[in-house]
Amino acid sequence: MKTVGLPALTSTYENYIWVIHDETNAWVIDPGEAPQVLDFLQKNNLNLKAILVTHRHPDHVNGIPDILAENQQALVYGPEKCDLPFIQYPCSENDLIELDSQLIFRVLDTPGHTEDHITFYNDEKLFCGDTLFTGGCGRILGGTTSEFANSILKLRELPDELAFYCPHEYTDSNLKFARLVEPDNQPLIDRIANTEIAYPSTINEAQSSLGMEKNTNPFLRFDTPDLKAKLLDRGATDDPVSLFTTLRNWKDQWDHQN
Ligand SMILES: [Zn+2]
Repeated sequence: MKTVGLPALTSTYENYIWVIHDETNAWVIDPGEAPQVLDFLQKNNLNLKAILVTHRHPDHVNGIPDILAENQQALVYGPEKCDLPFIQYPCSENDLIELDSQLIFRVLDTPGHTEDHITFYNDEKLFCGDTLFTGGCGRILGGTTSEFANSILKLRELPDELAFYCPHEYTDSNLKFARLVEPDNQPLIDRIANTEIAYPSTINEAQSSLGMEKNTNPFLRFDTPDLKAKLLDRGATDDPVSLFTTLRNWKDQWDHQN
């Protein structure tokens, strides 16, 4: 199977819509727009089997009605806590979703970015929506900091080998902030030297691995000694939620100034 990232909402939210496909069937994750998905399915003569939704935000779901209008057989899986009418199969923690004999995902509840947010993963792939980004993480837009910190710690327990498919192209700016907060992190310095972004090109396969994120993404590293010391200086207490919240606030302030 192949996994392709189709650019979407390129001048606003800079999304990727991920399409997993073999020679006949396709599965789409978080389609915020329809035209490029319909075009890809048609050009490659693919039968859309299902759509997976990580959370309710428009830039992840707005393409669904138009996609379904032309692919009425497609099933839609999404968060149990999301009340959007097109979700046919509500998913929550530990559900197993058998999309094909070769494609089975497990579900994790990962609230924090929103209260309804879920993650799909298996032994190879990780689709965690706006919970984790390449070099960064989503903002808090509906969930709580405590939920978000716990969701991030949950993702950190998953294997390093997982291919990480990020739904937004914020890598350059995230890595700039990462360098600011961890200037001596050699894997991060190496990653920045090796990162070239060609957005809005279509991309093939994952941008990163979870292991790469664990080594370079400050939001998976807020309790490492050097970064933790800086967060304590900025008023955090020695508690994962406080450390995460202080880092998230620091990034929000930095985003505001940049
Ligand atoms: Zn979102």
